[in-house]
Amino acid sequence: MDFKLSEEQKLLRETVREFSEKEISPRIGDMIRKRKIPEEIKNGMAKLGLLGMTVPEEYGGMGADALTTGIVAEEIGRADPTASIPVLFLVDNAWSYLISKYGTSKLKENLLPDVAKGKKIVGIASTEPNFGSDLSSMTSRATKVNGGFILSGEKAFISLVRDIDETGGGFVTVFKTDPAKGTDGISLIFMPYDRKQMETMFIEEMGREGSSWGSFKFSDLQVGDDHLIGEINRGFRIVHEGFEFARGLISMISCGAASKSLENGAEYMKQRRAFGREIARFQGLQFDLAQDVAKIEAARNTSMKALWMYDMEQNGKMFTRFDVSKEIAIAKFIATTWAFDAINDALQWQGAYGYSKDCPEEWALRGIRSFQLAEGSREIMKLIIARETLGKEYLR
Ligand SMILES: Cc1cc2nc3c(=O)[nH]c(=O)nc-3n(C[C@H](O)[C@H](O)[C@H](O)COP(=O)(O)OP(=O)(O)OC[C@H]3O[C@@H](n4cnc5c(N)ncnc54)[C@H](O)[C@@H]3O)c2cc1C
Repeated sequence: MDFKLSEEQKLLRETVREFSEKEISPRIGDMIRKRKIPEEIKNGMAKLGLLGMTVPEEYGGMGADALTTGIVAEEIGRADPTASIPVLFLVDNAWSYLISKYGTSKLKENLLPDVAKGKKIVGIASTEPNFGSDLSSMTSRATKVNGGFILSGEKAFISLVRDIDETGGGFVTVFKTDPAKGTDGISLIFMPYDRKQMETMFIEEMGREGSSWGSFKFSDLQVGDDHLIGEINRGFRIVHEGFEFARGLISMISCGAASKSLENGAEYMKQRRAFGREIARFQGLQFDLAQDVAKIEAARNTSMKALWMYDMEQNGKMFTRFDVSKEIAIAKFIATTWAFDAINDALQWQGAYGYSKDCPEEWALRGIRSFQLAEGSREIMKLIIARETLGKEYLR
């Protein structure tokens, strides 16, 4: 086994750390007040190639693999405790990867160069008002017509709606194309977002103040055949490749945010005094800290292994799709659970200040909580682990 990062990966991590400390961290307060990711941050990320970094080089991107994208995700997670910028980073990169892999040449030529420049954003629209986990219950329809598809339906609780409205882009969207066939009748279509043609409702989130969230309804929208992603009726299998990439990135973001919170908490413990000594001297707090540090290190190693396995499988080596689904589910389950616990502990060590709106751990607690739901809930991660351990016949 070789845990060494390549020279390029190390350099990229250092560059992103430097950029984050200089350009992201000082602007978080401003972002929370304005409830919007500052343009300077988006522009800076685009300049470094971090938006659309998975887009192949021939379309102007970096062609980064999943592990390298995960290494950057951890840094972005450290830099923005609200998890707003990490959401933009992870959704855009994971789902534009899926288009790079399965999109038609025309879609890739028309879309990906702008994604690589940060001039368009790619999101995922799967969830509907009456279903999230259970994809087979979806009702949005894509009807095949000559030269394209007619799209009607409603998508709910979708990240980045305002960002995509303002910047441009659209969503990898999940549709029924053959409703009688259940999950064998699902297809993926890139649906450009056009607010004029959609009835949009924005939703206020518990955290992630700089990000945006909303639902939109549409009927009789027409897109060309070139918007189909992968084969018709094969969407159920393909969409999971996107979810797994996104889940691996969420795991790394959670580890980054938790590590930063533990550093903040440890620093506070060394400064704060109670009963005549620094609170860092109390073994009760030391043991909590040690437990959190150990768990986050284990979660990071598992997350990196899962992303490495993802890359291997994508290149046809060593692992099956099921091996990858299980390892990614383990990574997402432990990273998001343990990160939330670690951030909560770091908040606790900071006493009353920890509960105030000025404390980054208060922001992180609300932001990182979203990852126990988004891109597949905690329970669905456990179902995948159980399915791969017991056999799928035991899930019925
Ligand atoms: C902040 C945030 C951002 C999001 N962004 C997006 C986005 O960009 N695009 C998008 O498409 N969706 C997005 N979602 C939606 C997200 O994917 C869903 O919330 C998630 O898939 C769960 O679906 P649901 O909310 O409909 O819950 P349901 O599927 O209705 O489930 C309700 C509860 O039951 C549990 N449950 C369901 N089935 C089982 C089972 N078989 N066994 C045990 N427990 C079960 C679930 O885990 C959950 O706790 C986002 C959600 C959040 C919170």
